[in-house]
Amino acid sequence: MFATLAIYCGSAPGNDPAFISTAYQAGQALAHRGIRIVYGGGGVGMMGALADGALSSGGRVTGVIPEFLNTRELQHPDVKDMIVVQTMHERKLRMVEEAQGFIALPGGFGTLDELFEVLTWAQLGIHSHAVGLLNVGGFFDGILQCLDHMVAQGFLMASDRQRLIAAADIDTLIDRMADWQPPSEIKFSLAKRVTL
Ligand code: AMP
Repeated sequence: MFATLAIYCGSAPGNDPAFISTAYQAGQALAHRGIRIVYGGGGVGMMGALADGALSSGGRVTGVIPEFLNTRELQHPDVKDMIVVQTMHERKLRMVEEAQGFIALPGGFGTLDELFEVLTWAQLGIHSHAVGLLNVGGFFDGILQCLDHMVAQGFLMASDRQRLIAAADIDTLIDRMADWQPPSEIKFSLAKRVTL
């Protein structure tokens, strides 16, 4: 089982209150399983609800926040274990180093940036950890369709597409991630030079 999972999610709350309750419940579920959360350190939106849920259930939460975002308006007031770094790149690396798996909840560009970076690093063999998508209410259906389209069009290997584990609820997702085995070898079989 995972000692620590990095969680990526929106700084916004989204329009449907179900998003915030999902983030809060995800925090609680991780706390109940004794899994430490590493996240972006924000007190706002989905990030704030995630940390609130975990702290309400006695969970351990570590924030990794770049100095320019570490303001009273944005940082979580109750997360004591706050690592302040200089740059966004430093933050993302630190989050990867701290965790044995990664989960994205609904969010925007920042969330997708973090999700696709850890997927890219997995397909290059930089890490071999599970990557999960909490597809609450079908929020990520369009992204999942886009990934299938990339496979169909020859830009993404089916074996790499399968690295992204999606589930609609957090407990199913964590169980699937715990059972997941990384592919035994890294293949670059789609990469080829073509001259015209
Ligand atoms: P977004 O999905 O665009 O709202 O970006 C959220 C992701 O980017 C989070 O997982 C954070 O790591 C990072 N991030 C974006 N905005 C903030 C913020 N105001 N405070 C802390 N982290 C943030």
